[in-house]
Amino acid sequence: MSRVWNFSAGPAVLPEEVLSRAASEMLDWHGCGMSVMEMSHRSKEFAQIIGEAEEDLRALANIPETYKVLFLQGGASSQFAAVPLNLLRPRDDGAPGVADYLVTGSWSKKAWKEAQRYGDARLAASTEAEGYTRIPKADELALSPDADYVYLCENETIYGVKFPELPDTNGVPIAADVSSCFLSEPFDIGRYGVMYGGAQKNIGPAGTVIAIVREDLIRDDVAPACPTMLKWKTQADAGSLYNTPPTWGIYICGLVFKWIIAQGGLPELKARNQRKAALLYDFIDQSALFKATVAKEDRSIMNVPFVTGDAELDARFVAEAKEAGIVNIKGHRSVGGMRASLYNALPEEGVRALVAFMERFEKENA
Ligand SMILES: *Cc1c(COP(=O)(O)O)cnc(C)c1O
Repeated sequence: MSRVWNFSAGPAVLPEEVLSRAASEMLDWHGCGMSVMEMSHRSKEFAQIIGEAEEDLRALANIPETYKVLFLQGGASSQFAAVPLNLLRPRDDGAPGVADYLVTGSWSKKAWKEAQRYGDARLAASTEAEGYTRIPKADELALSPDADYVYLCENETIYGVKFPELPDTNGVPIAADVSSCFLSEPFDIGRYGVMYGGAQKNIGPAGTVIAIVREDLIRDDVAPACPTMLKWKTQADAGSLYNTPPTWGIYICGLVFKWIIAQGGLPELKARNQRKAALLYDFIDQSALFKATVAKEDRSIMNVPFVTGDAELDARFVAEAKEAGIVNIKGHRSVGGMRASLYNALPEEGVRALVAFMERFEKENA
């Protein structure tokens, strides 16, 4: 067996220990004689799996009881609709509910477009004209005092920009898409009204979505058009078992939570992730060939886009990297160049291999 250095933006690398454990439990989970994929979601075995997953997540991220943890499906994109459908409140005069969107890349733009279908989704800031290469400063945000929520994508996976800190929203709840930075470092859940992420970037298999929602934002009187499945109250009341949840995905997420705890928790992961990102950015910043595309203070430590400035050379880099066992490093089609995603499960050794390869490539193409 030979494993590559996988820099995929998602679905992405998972810890080898987790994959091995899942393999060893594939045919017979804990002596029950069947796979997790084959068991009822209402069985006591699965109750243990989802119960431990929630407990471990709460422990490692310090999530208090005032927040609900929901295991959902439909990908992170399903929450682009769920957020406005659950949070927008029509005004007494019949005017639609108001939300402020901070558009800092393709994912927040998609979410903003989706929200326009359900209410008055305002563009409170956008860096689109600058190619999404930075995060807007506090004084650039046109926040509405009466907004039901402020929406942002904390780490834009495609452009590689990350909010260095959350904006002050004057008490208006923040709804954040954290798909590509979820559990990459400690966070204060109290700063968020809602945080959600698709699992396939840092946590587990595609399709599974984890939403952490402040209790008072889980309401019964949501927009009448809100599908039952997208209503957080439905899922919260049913303990994420309103219908058949993505049982396999939840199981793998649970194994990843145990892996994170065994590594030393989120502070340890943050230290590792910062070390890995520094290795790559420091090399790029002194390179005569490669350039980073994002303003220094707003750089993601999870997704690192870089270019040579020559599309043909970029393509050669990607092809030769693949031969060297460095894969999925091609930039998103909307940005071009390269993108190295350095999620939790990518070992530092992989980043060293990438930097060594870049050094060699630069010498050969000087
Ligand atoms: C990947 C990604 C999405 C979309 O996730 P799906 O599961 O494909 O819907 C949304 N937001 C961010 C930040 C992402 O990285």
